Amino acid sequence: MTNSFASLGLAEPILRALAAEKYETPTPIQAQAIPALLAGKDLLGIAQTGTGKTAAFALPILQHLAAQRAHPVPKSPRALILAPTRELAIQIAEAFRAYGRFLGLRQTVVVGGVGYPQQIEALRRGVDILVATPGRLMDHMESGHVRLERVTHLVLDEADRMLDMGFVRDVRRIVAALPKRRQSMFFSATMPPEVTRLAHEMLFQPVRVEVTPQVVTVDKIQQNVHFVNAADKRTHLIKLLGDPALSRVIVFTRTKHAANRVAETLERAKVPAEAIHGNKSQNARQRALERFRSGRARVLVATDIAARGIDVDGITHVVNYELPNVPETYVHRIGRTARAGADGVAISLCDGSERAYLRDIERLTRRPIAVVGGQPTLLAERAKPAQPNRHGPAKHWHRRFARRAA
Ligand code: AMP
Repeated sequence: MTNSFASLGLAEPILRALAAEKYETPTPIQAQAIPALLAGKDLLGIAQTGTGKTAAFALPILQHLAAQRAHPVPKSPRALILAPTRELAIQIAEAFRAYGRFLGLRQTVVVGGVGYPQQIEALRRGVDILVATPGRLMDHMESGHVRLERVTHLVLDEADRMLDMGFVRDVRRIVAALPKRRQSMFFSATMPPEVTRLAHEMLFQPVRVEVTPQVVTVDKIQQNVHFVNAADKRTHLIKLLGDPALSRVIVFTRTKHAANRVAETLERAKVPAEAIHGNKSQNARQRALERFRSGRARVLVATDIAARGIDVDGITHVVNYELPNVPETYVHRIGRTARAGADGVAISLCDGSERAYLRDIERLTRRPIAVVGGQPTLLAERAKPAQPNRHGPAKHWHRRFARRAA
Protein backbone atom coordinates (compact mmCIF):
# COMPACT_ATOMS: atom_id res chain seq x y z
CA MET A 1 0.00 0.00 0.00
CA THR A 2 1.41 3.35 -1.04
CA ASN A 3 1.69 5.78 1.80
CA SER A 4 3.75 8.70 0.62
CA PHE A 5 3.40 11.24 -2.16
CA ALA A 6 6.96 10.56 -3.31
CA SER A 7 6.17 6.90 -3.92
CA LEU A 8 3.28 7.92 -6.20
CA GLY A 9 5.80 9.31 -8.67
CA LEU A 10 5.34 13.03 -8.11
CA ALA A 11 8.19 15.38 -8.95
CA GLU A 12 10.26 17.28 -6.41
CA PRO A 13 8.76 20.80 -6.82
CA ILE A 14 5.30 19.33 -6.26
CA LEU A 15 6.44 17.35 -3.22
CA ARG A 16 7.88 20.56 -1.82
CA ALA A 17 4.57 22.36 -2.31
CA LEU A 18 2.70 19.50 -0.62
CA ALA A 19 5.08 19.66 2.32
CA ALA A 20 4.36 23.39 2.57
CA GLU A 21 0.64 22.53 2.64
CA LYS A 22 1.43 20.07 5.44
CA TYR A 23 0.00 17.15 3.50
CA GLU A 24 1.77 14.06 4.78
CA THR A 25 -0.16 11.13 3.40
CA PRO A 26 -2.16 10.75 0.20
CA THR A 27 -5.88 10.27 0.73
CA PRO A 28 -7.37 7.06 -0.72
CA ILE A 29 -8.49 8.74 -3.92
CA GLN A 30 -5.08 10.34 -4.34
CA ALA A 31 -3.26 7.06 -3.77
CA GLN A 32 -5.39 5.36 -6.40
CA ALA A 33 -5.80 8.11 -8.98
CA ILE A 34 -2.39 9.79 -9.11
CA PRO A 35 -0.32 6.87 -10.51
CA ALA A 36 -2.97 6.13 -13.17
CA LEU A 37 -3.15 9.79 -14.17
CA LEU A 38 0.62 10.17 -14.28
CA ALA A 39 0.59 7.21 -16.64
CA GLY A 40 -1.77 9.15 -18.90
CA LYS A 41 -4.95 7.16 -18.32
CA ASP A 42 -8.46 8.61 -18.27
CA LEU A 43 -10.22 8.54 -14.91
CA LEU A 44 -13.73 8.12 -13.63
CA GLY A 45 -13.72 9.27 -10.00
CA ILE A 46 -16.76 8.72 -7.85
CA ALA A 47 -16.11 10.95 -4.90
CA GLN A 48 -17.47 13.96 -3.13
CA THR A 49 -15.83 17.06 -1.75
CA GLY A 50 -13.73 16.38 1.31
CA THR A 51 -12.01 13.31 -0.12
CA GLY A 52 -9.03 15.19 -1.53
CA LYS A 53 -10.23 14.78 -5.12
CA THR A 54 -8.95 18.20 -6.19
CA ALA A 55 -5.33 17.30 -5.50
CA ALA A 56 -5.95 13.88 -7.07
CA PHE A 57 -6.45 15.51 -10.46
CA ALA A 58 -4.47 18.75 -9.98
CA LEU A 59 -1.12 17.15 -9.08
CA PRO A 60 -0.80 14.91 -12.17
CA ILE A 61 -1.98 17.74 -14.45
CA LEU A 62 0.64 20.08 -12.98
CA GLN A 63 3.30 17.46 -13.46
CA HIS A 64 2.34 16.79 -17.09
CA LEU A 65 2.19 20.48 -17.95
CA ALA A 66 5.51 21.25 -16.28
CA ALA A 67 7.14 18.37 -18.17
CA GLN A 68 5.92 19.73 -21.53
CA ARG A 69 7.94 22.94 -20.93
CA ALA A 70 5.73 24.92 -23.30
CA HIS A 71 5.15 28.66 -23.13
CA PRO A 72 1.53 29.72 -22.82
CA VAL A 73 0.00 30.54 -26.20
CA PRO A 74 -2.50 33.44 -26.18
CA LYS A 75 -6.10 32.30 -25.71
CA SER A 76 -5.07 28.63 -25.76
CA PRO A 77 -4.97 26.83 -22.40
CA ARG A 78 -3.52 23.33 -22.14
CA ALA A 79 -5.59 22.19 -19.18
CA LEU A 80 -9.29 22.90 -18.83
CA ILE A 81 -11.15 22.29 -15.58
CA LEU A 82 -14.93 22.66 -15.64
CA ALA A 83 -16.79 23.18 -12.37
CA PRO A 84 -20.49 23.79 -11.81
CA THR A 85 -20.24 26.75 -9.41
CA ARG A 86 -18.13 29.85 -9.11
CA GLU A 87 -17.10 28.97 -5.57
CA LEU A 88 -15.88 25.56 -6.59
CA ALA A 89 -14.02 26.99 -9.59
CA ILE A 90 -12.26 29.52 -7.36
CA GLN A 91 -11.34 26.84 -4.85
CA ILE A 92 -9.93 24.61 -7.56
CA ALA A 93 -7.84 27.47 -8.90
CA GLU A 94 -6.53 28.16 -5.39
CA ALA A 95 -5.54 24.51 -5.11
CA PHE A 96 -3.67 24.63 -8.44
CA ARG A 97 -1.89 27.77 -7.30
CA ALA A 98 -0.85 26.20 -3.99
CA TYR A 99 0.32 22.86 -5.43
CA GLY A 100 1.97 24.48 -8.44
CA ARG A 101 3.69 27.32 -6.65
CA PHE A 102 7.19 26.11 -7.60
CA LEU A 103 6.38 25.35 -11.22
CA GLY A 104 5.87 28.80 -12.76
CA LEU A 105 2.75 27.81 -14.71
CA ARG A 106 0.09 30.40 -15.49
CA GLN A 107 -3.59 30.01 -14.72
CA THR A 108 -6.85 31.91 -14.59
CA VAL A 109 -10.46 31.48 -13.55
CA VAL A 110 -13.38 32.27 -15.81
CA VAL A 111 -16.74 32.39 -14.01
CA GLY A 112 -20.02 34.24 -14.31
CA GLY A 113 -21.18 37.09 -12.10
CA VAL A 114 -18.04 39.18 -12.58
CA GLY A 115 -16.88 41.48 -15.39
CA TYR A 116 -15.48 40.26 -18.71
CA PRO A 117 -12.49 42.57 -19.38
CA GLN A 118 -10.08 41.07 -16.84
CA GLN A 119 -10.89 37.55 -17.96
CA ILE A 120 -10.42 38.48 -21.60
CA GLU A 121 -7.09 40.12 -20.82
CA ALA A 122 -5.83 37.10 -18.86
CA LEU A 123 -6.84 34.76 -21.69
CA ARG A 124 -5.21 37.02 -24.26
CA ARG A 125 -1.92 36.98 -22.36
CA GLY A 126 -2.09 33.19 -22.29
CA VAL A 127 -2.53 30.63 -19.52
CA ASP A 128 -1.54 27.02 -19.03
CA ILE A 129 -4.49 26.17 -16.81
CA LEU A 130 -8.03 27.45 -17.17
CA VAL A 131 -10.67 26.78 -14.51
CA ALA A 132 -14.15 27.70 -15.70
CA THR A 133 -17.86 27.40 -15.23
CA PRO A 134 -19.51 26.24 -18.47
CA GLY A 135 -21.77 29.24 -19.15
CA ARG A 136 -19.05 31.87 -19.02
CA LEU A 137 -16.61 29.68 -20.91
CA MET A 138 -19.17 29.34 -23.72
CA ASP A 139 -19.44 33.14 -23.85
CA HIS A 140 -15.70 33.47 -24.28
CA MET A 141 -15.62 30.70 -26.90
CA GLU A 142 -18.37 32.35 -28.91
CA SER A 143 -16.68 35.75 -28.86
CA GLY A 144 -13.34 34.20 -29.85
CA HIS A 145 -11.51 35.00 -26.62
CA VAL A 146 -10.56 31.42 -25.93
CA ARG A 147 -9.68 28.50 -28.20
CA LEU A 148 -9.58 24.93 -27.06
CA GLU A 149 -7.50 23.23 -29.78
CA ARG A 150 -4.46 22.95 -27.56
CA VAL A 151 -6.17 21.40 -24.55
CA THR A 152 -4.40 18.20 -23.55
CA HIS A 153 -6.06 17.74 -20.14
CA LEU A 154 -9.73 18.01 -19.31
CA VAL A 155 -11.42 17.73 -15.92
CA LEU A 156 -15.15 17.70 -15.42
CA ASP A 157 -15.77 18.14 -11.70
CA GLU A 158 -19.07 17.44 -9.91
CA ALA A 159 -20.74 16.16 -13.04
CA ASP A 160 -23.97 15.31 -11.20
CA ARG A 161 -24.26 18.91 -10.13
CA MET A 162 -23.62 20.04 -13.71
CA LEU A 163 -26.66 18.01 -14.64
CA ASP A 164 -28.79 19.51 -11.84
CA MET A 165 -27.85 22.98 -12.94
CA GLY A 166 -28.74 22.38 -16.56
CA PHE A 167 -25.16 22.66 -17.80
CA VAL A 168 -24.97 19.37 -19.62
CA ARG A 169 -25.67 20.83 -23.06
CA ASP A 170 -22.94 23.42 -22.59
CA VAL A 171 -20.57 20.73 -21.34
CA ARG A 172 -21.21 18.61 -24.43
CA ARG A 173 -20.57 21.58 -26.70
CA ILE A 174 -17.35 22.44 -24.90
CA VAL A 175 -16.12 18.85 -25.06
CA ALA A 176 -16.93 18.76 -28.78
CA ALA A 177 -14.54 21.68 -29.28
CA LEU A 178 -11.62 19.80 -27.68
CA PRO A 179 -9.02 17.70 -29.45
CA LYS A 180 -9.84 13.99 -29.47
CA ARG A 181 -6.38 13.17 -28.21
CA ARG A 182 -6.40 14.33 -24.63
CA GLN A 183 -6.50 13.02 -21.08
CA SER A 184 -9.92 13.30 -19.46
CA MET A 185 -10.92 13.10 -15.81
CA PHE A 186 -14.50 12.89 -14.74
CA PHE A 187 -15.68 13.33 -11.14
CA SER A 188 -19.12 12.90 -9.68
CA ALA A 189 -20.46 12.16 -6.21
CA THR A 190 -23.32 10.12 -7.63
CA MET A 191 -23.79 8.33 -10.93
CA PRO A 192 -27.39 8.67 -12.13
CA PRO A 193 -27.92 7.27 -15.67
CA GLU A 194 -27.54 10.59 -17.46
CA VAL A 195 -24.20 11.22 -15.75
CA THR A 196 -23.03 7.72 -16.62
CA ARG A 197 -23.90 8.41 -20.24
CA LEU A 198 -21.92 11.63 -20.21
CA ALA A 199 -18.93 9.82 -18.68
CA HIS A 200 -19.03 7.20 -21.43
CA GLU A 201 -19.03 9.90 -24.09
CA MET A 202 -16.08 11.75 -22.59
CA LEU A 203 -13.74 9.03 -21.38
CA PHE A 204 -11.56 6.46 -23.12
CA GLN A 205 -11.03 3.21 -21.20
CA PRO A 206 -11.03 5.02 -17.86
CA VAL A 207 -9.63 3.76 -14.59
CA ARG A 208 -12.47 3.81 -12.08
CA VAL A 209 -11.88 5.01 -8.53
CA GLU A 210 -14.65 5.15 -5.96
CA VAL A 211 -14.28 6.53 -2.43
CA THR A 212 -16.31 7.63 0.62
CA PRO A 213 -19.45 5.67 0.05
CA GLN A 214 -22.44 7.59 1.25
CA VAL A 215 -23.27 5.19 4.06
CA VAL A 216 -19.95 5.87 5.79
CA THR A 217 -20.39 9.63 5.69
CA VAL A 218 -23.91 9.38 6.98
CA ASP A 219 -22.88 7.00 9.76
CA LYS A 220 -20.86 9.66 11.52
CA ILE A 221 -23.72 12.11 11.66
CA GLN A 222 -26.45 12.19 14.25
CA GLN A 223 -29.64 12.69 12.29
CA ASN A 224 -32.97 13.95 13.59
CA VAL A 225 -36.23 14.93 12.03
CA HIS A 226 -38.76 17.33 13.54
CA PHE A 227 -42.28 17.22 12.14
CA VAL A 228 -43.33 20.84 11.86
CA ASN A 229 -46.09 22.63 9.95
CA ALA A 230 -44.73 24.70 7.10
CA ALA A 231 -46.08 27.87 8.71
CA ASP A 232 -44.25 27.13 11.98
CA LYS A 233 -40.82 26.43 10.52
CA ARG A 234 -39.42 29.90 11.07
CA THR A 235 -40.28 30.02 14.76
CA HIS A 236 -39.08 26.48 15.16
CA LEU A 237 -35.73 27.34 13.63
CA ILE A 238 -35.28 30.31 15.94
CA LYS A 239 -36.13 28.08 18.89
CA LEU A 240 -33.52 25.56 17.79
CA LEU A 241 -30.93 28.30 17.54
CA GLY A 242 -31.61 29.18 21.16
CA ASP A 243 -29.24 26.30 21.91
CA PRO A 244 -25.66 27.64 21.84
CA ALA A 245 -24.40 24.19 20.82
CA LEU A 246 -25.52 25.16 17.33
CA SER A 247 -22.52 27.41 16.93
CA ARG A 248 -21.71 27.11 13.22
CA VAL A 249 -24.77 26.17 11.24
CA ILE A 250 -25.71 25.77 7.60
CA VAL A 251 -29.45 26.02 6.94
CA PHE A 252 -30.56 24.62 3.60
CA THR A 253 -33.55 25.81 1.65
CA ARG A 254 -34.79 24.65 -1.73
CA THR A 255 -35.13 28.11 -3.29
CA LYS A 256 -33.19 31.37 -3.38
CA HIS A 257 -36.26 33.21 -2.26
CA ALA A 258 -36.64 31.03 0.82
CA ALA A 259 -32.94 31.44 1.61
CA ASN A 260 -33.34 35.22 1.67
CA ARG A 261 -36.50 35.03 3.77
CA VAL A 262 -34.94 32.74 6.36
CA ALA A 263 -31.79 34.87 6.63
CA GLU A 264 -33.91 37.98 7.15
CA THR A 265 -36.00 36.26 9.80
CA LEU A 266 -32.84 35.23 11.65
CA GLU A 267 -31.33 38.69 11.47
CA ARG A 268 -34.54 40.10 12.91
CA ALA A 269 -34.28 37.55 15.72
CA LYS A 270 -30.70 38.81 16.35
CA VAL A 271 -29.04 35.69 15.00
CA PRO A 272 -26.19 36.82 12.71
CA ALA A 273 -26.88 35.11 9.40
CA GLU A 274 -25.88 35.32 5.76
CA ALA A 275 -27.66 33.98 2.70
CA ILE A 276 -25.78 32.55 -0.24
CA HIS A 277 -27.39 31.65 -3.55
CA GLY A 278 -27.03 32.02 -7.28
CA ASN A 279 -28.73 35.43 -7.57
CA LYS A 280 -26.04 37.15 -5.56
CA SER A 281 -23.03 38.73 -7.19
CA GLN A 282 -19.72 36.98 -6.87
CA ASN A 283 -18.48 39.62 -4.46
CA ALA A 284 -21.56 39.36 -2.26
CA ARG A 285 -21.16 35.59 -2.13
CA GLN A 286 -17.50 35.81 -1.18
CA ARG A 287 -18.31 38.36 1.49
CA ALA A 288 -21.07 36.20 2.95
CA LEU A 289 -18.82 33.19 2.97
CA GLU A 290 -16.03 35.11 4.63
CA ARG A 291 -18.33 36.34 7.42
CA PHE A 292 -19.43 32.76 7.99
CA ARG A 293 -15.92 31.33 7.88
CA SER A 294 -14.62 33.90 10.33
CA GLY A 295 -17.51 33.19 12.73
CA ARG A 296 -19.01 36.66 12.48
CA ALA A 297 -22.12 35.08 11.00
CA ARG A 298 -23.29 32.09 13.01
CA VAL A 299 -25.61 30.81 10.32
CA LEU A 300 -25.21 30.43 6.57
CA VAL A 301 -28.51 29.98 4.76
CA ALA A 302 -27.84 28.34 1.44
CA THR A 303 -29.41 26.73 -1.58
CA ASP A 304 -27.92 23.43 -2.63
CA ILE A 305 -26.27 24.79 -5.71
CA ALA A 306 -24.58 27.66 -3.92
CA ALA A 307 -23.40 25.47 -1.06
CA ARG A 308 -21.81 22.84 -3.22
CA GLY A 309 -18.06 22.89 -3.11
CA ILE A 310 -17.84 25.29 -0.20
CA ASP A 311 -15.05 24.13 2.05
CA VAL A 312 -15.79 25.28 5.59
CA ASP A 313 -14.59 23.21 8.51
CA GLY A 314 -16.12 22.98 11.94
CA ILE A 315 -19.77 23.08 10.97
CA THR A 316 -21.60 21.83 14.05
CA HIS A 317 -25.08 21.47 12.59
CA VAL A 318 -26.80 21.21 9.26
CA VAL A 319 -30.46 22.18 9.31
CA ASN A 320 -32.67 21.11 6.45
CA TYR A 321 -35.21 23.88 6.63
CA GLU A 322 -36.81 22.25 3.63
CA LEU A 323 -36.12 18.67 2.65
CA PRO A 324 -34.60 18.16 -0.78
CA ASN A 325 -36.70 16.33 -3.35
CA VAL A 326 -33.63 14.44 -4.58
CA PRO A 327 -32.43 12.09 -1.82
CA GLU A 328 -28.75 12.25 -2.86
CA THR A 329 -28.89 15.97 -2.13
CA TYR A 330 -29.66 15.18 1.49
CA VAL A 331 -26.43 13.21 1.72
CA HIS A 332 -24.47 16.10 0.20
CA ARG A 333 -26.06 18.54 2.58
CA ILE A 334 -25.47 16.69 5.79
CA GLY A 335 -21.94 15.85 4.65
CA ARG A 336 -21.14 19.51 5.31
CA THR A 337 -20.98 18.64 8.99
CA ALA A 338 -18.76 15.78 10.16
CA ARG A 339 -16.03 16.85 7.77
CA ALA A 340 -12.41 16.17 8.50
CA GLY A 341 -13.31 13.31 10.78
CA ALA A 342 -15.43 15.34 13.20
CA ASP A 343 -18.89 14.29 14.34
CA GLY A 344 -21.87 16.34 13.34
CA VAL A 345 -25.60 16.78 13.73
CA ALA A 346 -28.21 17.09 11.00
CA ILE A 347 -31.70 18.33 11.83
CA SER A 348 -34.49 18.17 9.27
CA LEU A 349 -37.71 20.14 9.52
CA CYS A 350 -40.33 18.10 7.71
CA ASP A 351 -43.84 19.33 6.97
CA GLY A 352 -46.74 17.23 5.76
CA SER A 353 -45.90 17.78 2.11
CA GLU A 354 -42.36 16.53 2.56
CA ARG A 355 -42.95 13.10 4.04
CA ALA A 356 -42.42 11.34 0.77
CA TYR A 357 -39.01 13.01 0.46
CA LEU A 358 -38.11 11.77 3.91
CA ARG A 359 -39.06 8.24 2.95
CA ASP A 360 -36.88 8.43 -0.16
CA ILE A 361 -33.95 9.67 1.93
CA GLU A 362 -34.27 6.82 4.40
CA ARG A 363 -34.43 4.37 1.55
CA LEU A 364 -31.21 5.75 0.08
CA THR A 365 -29.23 5.94 3.32
CA ARG A 366 -30.73 2.67 4.59
CA ARG A 367 -31.21 4.00 8.05
CA PRO A 368 -34.12 5.54 9.88
CA ILE A 369 -33.90 9.14 10.97
CA ALA A 370 -34.80 9.63 14.63
CA VAL A 371 -37.98 11.59 15.21
CA VAL A 372 -37.73 14.36 17.78
CA GLY A 373 -40.84 15.68 19.51
CA GLY A 374 -42.54 12.35 20.09
CA GLN A 375 -44.77 12.39 17.05
CA PRO A 376 -45.57 9.00 15.63
CA THR A 377 -43.59 8.09 12.61
CA LEU A 378 -45.58 7.03 9.63
CA LEU A 379 -42.58 5.96 7.71
CA ALA A 380 -42.19 2.45 6.52
CA GLU A 381 -38.94 0.91 5.34
CA ARG A 382 -37.31 0.96 8.71
CA ALA A 383 -36.45 -2.70 8.89
CA LYS A 384 -33.25 -2.78 6.85
CA PRO A 385 -30.09 -2.51 8.93
CA ALA A 386 -27.35 -0.08 7.95
CA GLN A 387 -24.82 -1.59 5.57
CA PRO A 388 -21.63 -2.73 7.19
CA ASN A 389 -18.67 -0.54 6.46
CA ARG A 390 -16.78 -2.22 3.65
CA HIS A 391 -14.41 0.64 3.21
CA GLY A 392 -11.76 0.49 5.86
CA PRO A 393 -9.24 2.85 4.23
CA ALA A 394 -11.71 5.72 4.07
CA LYS A 395 -12.25 5.37 7.78
CA HIS A 396 -8.53 5.48 8.50
CA TRP A 397 -8.26 8.53 6.37
CA HIS A 398 -10.88 10.22 8.48
CA ARG A 399 -8.99 9.35 11.61
CA ARG A 400 -5.79 10.75 10.18
CA PHE A 401 -7.60 13.89 9.33
CA ALA A 402 -8.98 14.14 12.85
CA ARG A 403 -5.46 13.96 14.21
CA ARG A 404 -4.34 16.66 11.85
CA ALA A 405 -7.21 18.89 12.90
CA ALA A 406 -6.51 18.29 16.60
P1 AMP B 1 -11.24 18.24 -1.68
O1 AMP B 1 -11.99 16.97 -1.53
O2 AMP B 1 -10.34 18.25 -2.86
O3 AMP B 1 -12.16 19.43 -1.63
O4 AMP B 1 -10.26 18.38 -0.41
C1 AMP B 1 -10.74 18.49 0.89
C2 AMP B 1 -9.75 19.13 1.84
O5 AMP B 1 -8.70 18.22 2.16
C3 AMP B 1 -9.06 20.38 1.33
O6 AMP B 1 -9.12 21.36 2.35
C4 AMP B 1 -7.63 19.96 1.06
O7 AMP B 1 -6.73 21.03 1.29
C5 AMP B 1 -7.42 18.84 2.06
N1 AMP B 1 -6.50 17.78 1.61
C6 AMP B 1 -6.49 17.20 0.38
N2 AMP B 1 -5.57 16.23 0.32
C7 AMP B 1 -4.96 16.17 1.54
C8 AMP B 1 -3.92 15.35 2.09
N3 AMP B 1 -3.34 14.39 1.40
N4 AMP B 1 -3.57 15.57 3.37
C9 AMP B 1 -4.17 16.53 4.08
N5 AMP B 1 -5.16 17.34 3.62
C10 AMP B 1 -5.57 17.16 2.36
